[in-house]
Amino acid sequence: MCGRCCRRFYVLLSRAEKERIQALDWKDEADVPVDFCQEINGFLYYRRRPDGGCVFLDEKGVCRMHRRFGFDKKALTCRGYPFNIVSTFPGEISVLVRMDCPAVLEDHGRAITEQRQDIEKLVQELHFGSGFTPAQLKGMERHAVEELCSKFQELLDDDALGMADCMRSMMHLARRAETLGGVFLSDRSTMAEIYPSLLSNIKADVPEMTRYGIGGLTKSLFRQFMSYYCRRDEEILRTGIGSRLRQTWNIARLCMGFGNLACFGYEFPDIPLRRVKLFDRSANESRPEIPIARQREIWAMYRRFLSVRLECFQFFGVAYYGTDFFSGLIALFLTYPLVLAFARIWAAARGDVCIAVEDVKHAIGAMDHCHGRSPALKFKSIRSRERMLASFYSQLVFALGEN
Ligand code: SF4
Repeated sequence: MCGRCCRRFYVLLSRAEKERIQALDWKDEADVPVDFCQEINGFLYYRRRPDGGCVFLDEKGVCRMHRRFGFDKKALTCRGYPFNIVSTFPGEISVLVRMDCPAVLEDHGRAITEQRQDIEKLVQELHFGSGFTPAQLKGMERHAVEELCSKFQELLDDDALGMADCMRSMMHLARRAETLGGVFLSDRSTMAEIYPSLLSNIKADVPEMTRYGIGGLTKSLFRQFMSYYCRRDEEILRTGIGSRLRQTWNIARLCMGFGNLACFGYEFPDIPLRRVKLFDRSANESRPEIPIARQREIWAMYRRFLSVRLECFQFFGVAYYGTDFFSGLIALFLTYPLVLAFARIWAAARGDVCIAVEDVKHAIGAMDHCHGRSPALKFKSIRSRERMLASFYSQLVFALGEN
């Protein structure tokens, strides 16, 4: 009931919903929005007021349509939020809650399992594809997908690993698994023998993993990658040539290490990137080392983000632009340097050099709003950039100051 989703997001509605809402009988209620939707690039969205709020949001932050006609009369997008319901294996769907919702971030509200009836009603209205394709599964059988995901969970739960080393281990395992291939990974007896030594070797290798800075090109590529995760709602409006040119200029400045994330979306802190010193070695080295137990507190929410996605298989297929299992894993693990960078920006805006729990929450909220949803991320060419960043993963994390 915070109304943030009604203030921040561009809310889609179908033509049938537009007609249904137009036909609602408000009787004598004053100032009912008549012209409540706008068409942008062939899609319909609720109009927003100058302060960003949906035209149906009242001065108390409550949806007028909900108050007057009840939950069921609202558009599917409004009723479905903050659930993310996607098809996974053929004949199955998985459901999670999005972390761009502050209530979800705070772990408020009823568990998903207690809302099964409501979710089933939503599911009746949604259209699902036929599930993961063989190309997306890369030759893996279901048990192999489950087994590998459980190994990632083991690494996530390992109390001895700090956040950065946990992520290095997971990316390393993802890349080793891809090299082994789907057929090999689906061989139960062989993998039962291999997994224990594979995991212990990866953990033993972690302290030896490359820890030196990255070059200017990789820094620039990473800053561009950040811009993909800043562009969603405001991006919808950038249809004119003038605003597109301005946006291209903003991205170019960001790639060069200048600019300000606030120009991509009003929710980002207004601080010049130069002041954040993202890749400044001396600033990163002067930061106090955070004990692993404290790191776990700071990053608990992010570990939850990863754990839920791995459990629900919502990191490939429909959940991530139809991408395959391994590319989805790489994109998922790249969210760590991204959240680290965003959190550092929020910390700098508070005048602090160390990240706090609040900074990580802001960062996850921004990132999860775009992961698998940003229009800028859906192009296949982005996959090759993700691959390139993944090949410098350990250095990238080191260059960003680890945690
Ligand atoms: S219609 Fe209601 S629930 Fe949907 S965005 Fe507008 S105010 Fe929010």
